[in-house]
Amino acid sequence: MNARHEPAAPTRMHTVSGETEQIVDLVLDYSRRRILNDDTPLDKPSTEAELTRLAGPTITERGIGATKALSVFEHVLAPACITTDHPQYLSFIPTAPTKAATAFDLVVSASALYGGSWLEGAGAVYAENEVLSWLAREFGLPATAGGVFVQGGTLGNLSALVAARDHARHALAEAARDTATAGADTGGGSDAPTPIPPGGRWKVVCSAEAHSSIASAARVMDVDVIPVKPAADGMLRGDDVRAALLEHGTSVFAVVATAGSTNFGIVDDVASIAALKSDFDFWLHVDGAYGLAAMLSPLARDRFAGVEHADSVIVDPHKWLFAPFDACALIYRDPEAGRRAHTQHAEYLDTLTETSEWSPSDYAAHLTRRARGLPFWFSLATYGGAAYREAISHSITVAADIAHEITSREGFSLVRDPQLSVVVFERDGWTKADYNAWSARLLDEQKAFVTPSSHAGRPNTRFAIVNPNTTFEQLVAILDTM
Ligand SMILES: *Cc1c(COP(=O)(O)O)cnc(C)c1O
Repeated sequence: MNARHEPAAPTRMHTVSGETEQIVDLVLDYSRRRILNDDTPLDKPSTEAELTRLAGPTITERGIGATKALSVFEHVLAPACITTDHPQYLSFIPTAPTKAATAFDLVVSASALYGGSWLEGAGAVYAENEVLSWLAREFGLPATAGGVFVQGGTLGNLSALVAARDHARHALAEAARDTATAGADTGGGSDAPTPIPPGGRWKVVCSAEAHSSIASAARVMDVDVIPVKPAADGMLRGDDVRAALLEHGTSVFAVVATAGSTNFGIVDDVASIAALKSDFDFWLHVDGAYGLAAMLSPLARDRFAGVEHADSVIVDPHKWLFAPFDACALIYRDPEAGRRAHTQHAEYLDTLTETSEWSPSDYAAHLTRRARGLPFWFSLATYGGAAYREAISHSITVAADIAHEITSREGFSLVRDPQLSVVVFERDGWTKADYNAWSARLLDEQKAFVTPSSHAGRPNTRFAIVNPNTTFEQLVAILDTM
């Protein structure tokens, strides 16, 4: 019963030994080769049956060893993943991390950084905040603006909208307290029931072409979306939003302007929407997950007038700011509104939440977090802002050039003029089946990854260009296959 326990030996997995050194070398050598390889094939998915056949079972009681596991990854698993930073990956929104950012992502893991609190990760948080401040300045937000890097635009939009609703609830509660104080002594106090808006349900107004993550956030929050049809050019304008605000009144807690729609790269008229703030009380959130990066380019900056009035903005460095997955910069005009909405309280966290130090966990719907802003920080610090402006301008120019080529080609037409770096076009007479067959063939022949899309019930396809290695000539070669 009382047998003395031997002190447990550290496991072989946690000991520095010849074996560990060999594993680390294997992984770093592979990473080095992949990062420095300029022609990683496009690759394509396999079936589950094929992967089972080629990879076999890899999880066993005794382990298959690093050499074998890495070999399965390199020769079976990785080729079954499309290379998202390939210049001919033009679907959805691609990614194009700089070599510096990708390499530094290894450092973030190697350093076992905890990015949730100042207490644990002050140095990492300091660097991330410097990047957020730089972005805020570019977007015309006040020097006091701040926020956090979250996993992606979906979580960024959700966290911003949660803060917006919290802000509206506080305003309502305050108004109710004022009324109560002005009238009889009804008490009020901190345990008053959560106020609901007139009419019962909170509402968020956005363009009918807003990203699906806005509707997703609304479902999570159990609020209603009021979609407003934008003009034929795809831009949502103040007058359209005004009508929605008049109709839905004070139950609207936020208006979302899209700064670069995912489908078309169209930037809403943010200035005319922001101007409504003088007549209505709402939180202006700018969803710039893809497009707001273009505000860094002198070629596109003018399109973003009004962003400086936003109460919150998001932009994804993993889209057009050349950082690896996954990172979304969420910035609040008044960070305190974000902190009040999101700080988690628990006895074991008191030591963190009872200080005034900046803890990134407090600004979004998360707790434990990777210091995911650091790869972007390292690359931006290394190359400087001008290199980013040039790289973004390059994609805008290539997009304008290929749009011009499409317009002048017999049998091709643009669906809309591109504003940023997404070019949507039709091949005359093609059905959905034609686009499907053509797209599958392009990937099968490893020429390009360009998926079919549609607009207003008509099939089309699109080039989403964020990779500075994507050239006009490569795009022309794709048009030639149609
Ligand atoms: C991509 C995108 C999102 C969602 O971002 P994720 O990082 O994929 O979650 C939201 N809004 C817009 C406009 C986008 O382009």
